[in-house]
Amino acid sequence: MANRIPIGSAVRTEAIVNRYFVKAKKNLGQNFLIDQNAILGIVEAADIHEGDQVIEIGPGIGSLTEQLLLAGAKVFAYEVDRDLPEILANELPAKIGDADLDSRFKLLLKDVLKANFKEDIGNFFNFSEPIKVVANLPYYITTPIIFSLADSDLNFSSLTLMMQKEVAERLEAKPDSKDYGPLTIAVQTRMNVRLALEVKHDSFMPRPKVDSSVVVLTPLKEKYNIPDYKHFNRVVKLCFSQRRKTLNNNLKALISDKDEREKVISELGVDPRVRPENLTIEQFIKLAKLIPTKN
Ligand code: SAM
Repeated sequence: MANRIPIGSAVRTEAIVNRYFVKAKKNLGQNFLIDQNAILGIVEAADIHEGDQVIEIGPGIGSLTEQLLLAGAKVFAYEVDRDLPEILANELPAKIGDADLDSRFKLLLKDVLKANFKEDIGNFFNFSEPIKVVANLPYYITTPIIFSLADSDLNFSSLTLMMQKEVAERLEAKPDSKDYGPLTIAVQTRMNVRLALEVKHDSFMPRPKVDSSVVVLTPLKEKYNIPDYKHFNRVVKLCFSQRRKTLNNNLKALISDKDEREKVISELGVDPRVRPENLTIEQFIKLAKLIPTKN
């Protein structure tokens, strides 16, 4: 077939929507990208090269998938909408260079939160080579997806994820800012965070209320020493339970005895009047170690 205009152009998307009577499903977080610059921006941010192994979450009607394939990637996609496989099979290019679509693209109808990557993907990917994850995420499960990927046994070199701008700002926040909180700390203790691109809400169909950002997450070169992650998370969450109050006040939920609390704060080496958002990640790690796990 002659070169067609990209799936992610507004005209082609509209033609596909009309041909297959596609109705974007709100409960599945379906906002299809119709902005070719944004799509190519994601491919660029993910630094896709010939032969890259990419897991895509939620290919939708294939606008991003098509560009990942054309950039040379081999793509394994998770999708939950049963109406989409037929559209993808018909609309994605049948050949990418000399290769058949089947040798470069596989779709699994499965909730990505229930993924067992090695089992699902089987020998389509070589698991000793790095894997990139790329997605315009369904926003209703953005954070569960990030944590299930970060904590999986996937040997990933990067996660390039489109999400609501406000969530992206929380992921990459620094101490002393209003966006810095438990989500920031949970993510930054696992991965490096880089904001790559901002995408306006009119780049999607249907148009969401808010703008989006593309974030690139990469594994930390040096891991933090957090012996008990569950305890650490609990300490961080409780410290932020009243973010406008002082650390001393928030710590009451964890250490009821005043003298003991003062001792911990003094060992931490901070002013008791600091707010939780003023503590660095290293200070939270130290704090969690100063508080007995059973508390
Ligand atoms: N990639 C397409 C694009 O950029 O136009 C679609 C992105 S849309 C924001 C999110 C996609 O994720 C939809 O196709 C939706 O059906 C799919 N999805 C929703 N929940 C999912 C889940 N739990 N597992 C896998 N895919 C899911």
